[in-house]
Amino acid sequence: MQKYSVAVIDFKGNVRESVRRALKLLDWKCSSNESILIKPNMINSKTSEEGVTTDPQIVSALVEVVRDSGCKVYVGDSPGNAHPGKAREVFSLTGMLKAIEDSGAEFLEFEGDPPRLVQTDGVILKSIGLARCIFQHRIINVPKLKTHMQTLMTGAIKNLVFGCIPGSGKGILHRVGVTPKRMAKAMVDVYSVIRPFVSLNVMDAIVCMEGNGPTGGNPLRVNKILASEDALALDMVSFKMAGIDPLKVPYVREASLRGLGPKSFDEIHLLGDPLEEVKFELPSTFVSRVSSLAGYFTPLVTASPHIIPERCTGCGNCSSACPAGAIKLNEIAQIDRSKCIRCYVCHEVCEFDAIGVRKGYYEIIDRWVF
Ligand code: SF4
Ligand code: SF4
Repeated sequence: MQKYSVAVIDFKGNVRESVRRALKLLDWKCSSNESILIKPNMINSKTSEEGVTTDPQIVSALVEVVRDSGCKVYVGDSPGNAHPGKAREVFSLTGMLKAIEDSGAEFLEFEGDPPRLVQTDGVILKSIGLARCIFQHRIINVPKLKTHMQTLMTGAIKNLVFGCIPGSGKGILHRVGVTPKRMAKAMVDVYSVIRPFVSLNVMDAIVCMEGNGPTGGNPLRVNKILASEDALALDMVSFKMAGIDPLKVPYVREASLRGLGPKSFDEIHLLGDPLEEVKFELPSTFVSRVSSLAGYFTPLVTASPHIIPERCTGCGNCSSACPAGAIKLNEIAQIDRSKCIRCYVCHEVCEFDAIGVRKGYYEIIDRWVF
């Protein structure tokens, strides 16, 4: 049986030491003259301490290790609602740009070149436009451990899939992923293309997010760093640590069924410190027992977004990011419910917490009936 190693490190205040220890446990190295792309999770300008974006110190520590081996290092990502210039703004506001420049890596803008259209052997998506740079380097994926209103959890695989699709191209996943199962299949279609380019995954679980993640939940200090050469194995261990059966996360189950990593926890070899469970509060959109029954009735019964007028600045971020064209600006944002596909992208990209989410009937049924 093939074993997938995952290193679990108790973070005790020294990021550099923790990262180096994780890589040593995995015996991970890069050879000189390689070109490495570090890909953090940079969804918007909220910081790592707010539980939203990757901790810049983890990226700095990785840059240092890679540079010590004589490799060239780039750091880049495509944030939510990205257009040329947006990524630099997000990197700058979160302190990531300074960390990159101070550690001697080069910032790489995924929106800098037109996407490369690649064929998949997928079930839902037969082709997808991906950032050209991901094919030119070995990737170190540095996700953040968070809950997610649409996919329940987000970690290594989701960070790769959404972040490697530049700009508004991400919208295709929301348009085709109208049910949890379809979203999972579409995500794994894309992941199967990216997977061969990924060399290492390092999970920032120092300050995580619970509740209505990936941007509107509550920060939760867990003080762990986890690492693996396999993104699925890393997600399985991280989600288990968060108190969730990993195979209940639809895209984890789909990737596992397709053989893109471990088939079960038995195939995972844990290294380092003990894996203690830290129970995460789930998103209000996630219904543990009946969500899979929602199917195409999802728009009628699941939680829906609404604008909080006193917080809305009319910046327009939500309307340009909405894949369904369901948001209009009339001084403040307005949502056309008949068009809304409940993808929660608007909630994700709003930096003013001006989009709330009302509970759906299924959650009420789930709480009262079961
Ligand atoms: S809801 Fe948020 S993102 Fe949308 S216009 Fe208002 S402040 Fe901007
Ligand atoms: S209004 Fe928000 S939740 Fe609805 S489709 Fe647009 S981005 Fe998605």
